[in-house]
Amino acid sequence: MIQTDIIIVGAGPTGLFAVFEAGLLKLKCHLIDALPQPGGQCSELYPKKPIYDIPGFPEVLAGELVDNLIKQIAPFKPGFTLAERAETIEKLNDGNFLITTNKGTKHKAPVVAIAGGLGSFEPRKPELEDIEKFEEKGVYYMIKNPEDYRGKQVLIAGGGDAALDWAIHLSDMAKKVTLVHRRNEFRGALDSVEKVKEYKKQGKIVLITPAEVIKLNGNGNLESLVLQKQGENNTEETIKVDAFIPLFGLSPKLGPIAKWGFEIEKGAIKVHNSLDYQTNIPGVFAIGDVNTYPGKLKLILCGFHEATLMVQSAYQIINPGKRNILKYTTVSGVNGFDGSKK
Ligand code: FAD
Repeated sequence: MIQTDIIIVGAGPTGLFAVFEAGLLKLKCHLIDALPQPGGQCSELYPKKPIYDIPGFPEVLAGELVDNLIKQIAPFKPGFTLAERAETIEKLNDGNFLITTNKGTKHKAPVVAIAGGLGSFEPRKPELEDIEKFEEKGVYYMIKNPEDYRGKQVLIAGGGDAALDWAIHLSDMAKKVTLVHRRNEFRGALDSVEKVKEYKKQGKIVLITPAEVIKLNGNGNLESLVLQKQGENNTEETIKVDAFIPLFGLSPKLGPIAKWGFEIEKGAIKVHNSLDYQTNIPGVFAIGDVNTYPGKLKLILCGFHEATLMVQSAYQIINPGKRNILKYTTVSGVNGFDGSKK
């Protein structure tokens, strides 16, 4: 059981900055994210794209912004539960909320901040009979730890950067890496495409295009799959595999949060405008892209502002009756928030 002051669902830019603002008030945070890395849309959708509307940064790459946010919150030592989706919320008799993930990890806190953006990014799954039966038993939609594939026979399917980059990376540790794509042309970076072709020549990657996986076989765990090579004869081949990793991209869905009892408007959670972004459930706030109110703008800087106001109310819930005096970080420092730079 993880116990903290504020559980933050979503480790995008809004959730990360909320840790900083909470830390200034000596409130501890724990972040949950369905993705294996923090950064939300910035890391997942456009890490190499410059952003021009972050105050004080004439230009910053989205990935760099995330790196800076992680550096900025490090003194407050937030906890992370990554690659797990927050599934259920429950109000306990002691006043705390209990949030449980799809992997069963339990988190307890008096305040919850939903910073879920567009929702949790769910993998696009190939339409294969019985694929659910083999999930986590040979079929994986995300690579959490590349070491899991050391010495294994891996087949990756997909034509984008994720498929190319992971095929290149795993070729150093897996027993065999096969990359399959239903077209001859890849969508990923030219540099990666060339590298994969070079690795094919060197025998480090088996490249099969155009082809598609059409059947999975196994008794409990995945043991082999059937590949259909597109062409005049559409020949089929059975390949022995330990892991099949379809990397067909991720699509955001509000997901389980939609069933937590919030007022939902156009796919977003309704909050009290400009007061503290509290939802219709007292003690549960919604900040960043996931919320809606009159005049809402889905921008990073708006998420930062909302996180800042939200923690003020969170402080009052956690420390009832205690006065919180606004201090500038220029005066008080950040580490330990007493200027002592512990
Ligand atoms: P997100 O970044 O969406 O993060 C939410 C996180 O919550 C995700 O990681 C998700 O996995 C997680 N999550 C959701 N539900 C769950 C759950 N149940 N359990 C666990 N985790 C969950 N904004 C700007 O200000 N300037 C720009 O120039 C700009 N350019 C953009 C360009 C592109 C291509 C795109 C797509 C967006 C751009 N934006 C820009 C918008 C900006 O990225 C968003 O406003 C910002 O990412 C919102 O941050 P967030 O933390 O609220 O949500």
